Amino acid sequence: MSDLRDLYQELILDHTKKPRNFRKIEGVGSKADGHNPLCGDKLTVFLIVDGGIVTDISFIGSGCAISMASASMMTESLKGKTIAEAKTMFGRFHELLTGDFDGPRDPESLGKLVVFGGVKEFPVRVKCATLAWHTMNAILEHQEEPVSTE
Ligand code: ZN
Repeated sequence: MSDLRDLYQELILDHTKKPRNFRKIEGVGSKADGHNPLCGDKLTVFLIVDGGIVTDISFIGSGCAISMASASMMTESLKGKTIAEAKTMFGRFHELLTGDFDGPRDPESLGKLVVFGGVKEFPVRVKCATLAWHTMNAILEHQEEPVSTE
């Protein structure tokens, strides 16, 4: 798994140096604040849902490298997804970091987010990596879901 570890460090560094979608969305959409007192990570996630699709997502805040990189990668992963897909991804990501099995049921659905699987070995860091996701999910819980036949 050393390839995954290298990729993890590379991605964390890249996203910490150049966080994607690091900006406010003002006036439209929804937002929620997340705080991880254990580490001091604080962030705000902004979300615009249009027709059941995440058309824009961003965040601001400060915290450790893992929390910022995770938030950055989350925004990249969720843009263009439906609410249902975003919720599924949150579930998979959560499983990846907290599950007591070898991995998520459908690792390919997570794309490069699988690099966070290694964080599971460091329980204190799990909250850092999942903070943005919990915050995003809090917004989704208040979104109206379009009727789906699936
Ligand atoms: Zn942290």
